[in-house]
Amino acid sequence: MNVNFENRVLELVEGDITEMETDAIVNAANAQLVLGGGVAGAIRRKGGPAIQAECKKIGGTFVGGAVITGGGNLKAKYVIHAVGPRMGEGNEDEKLTNATLNSLKLADDNKLKSISFPAISTGIFGFPIQRCAEIMLEATINYLTGPTGLEKVVFCLFGHSDYQVFAKQLEQETSK
Ligand code: ADP
Repeated sequence: MNVNFENRVLELVEGDITEMETDAIVNAANAQLVLGGGVAGAIRRKGGPAIQAECKKIGGTFVGGAVITGGGNLKAKYVIHAVGPRMGEGNEDEKLTNATLNSLKLADDNKLKSISFPAISTGIFGFPIQRCAEIMLEATINYLTGPTGLEKVVFCLFGHSDYQVFAKQLEQETSK
């Protein structure tokens, strides 16, 4: 599913984010920037050890923050490590909005044209997928309708049911 905002496109796909060919892919990271399971594990396995080594040098970031490293052996040239909230820690919605916006800003700061996101926080961190779709899509649409050099933002959803949740929400957002 594709939606255009002037000359920019927001795209939804179902699949494995480590296969995406956008300039950057976003990792659902933790504040310590240790690549464990879920998206991070897939990135570590396919991207090779250079990504974790770069993360170790950076050391960590705050919940809602994002940092950038190279993409190692991935098709994407960069990985943006965004730290989403863990369900139950408080202020989850605001933190997820910030993680999304800080990733988009970091892509712009590095003059990237395209970026792919997973559904941040909805795996190990336990955040509900519907609320994630509402928050991440709203933040992205607001960002894409402002000044940005980004041309394409992709949400790469893992499995058909998560894809359907995002597709329904995007339809609702764009029919407003
Ligand atoms: P978090 O710790 O932020 O919850 P996870 O990596 O556990 O991060 O999960 C975030 C989301 O990414 C979940 O919806 C999970 O199903 C999904 N996911 C896991 N592996 C992949 C992958 N290879 N590509 C895209 N999405 C993935």
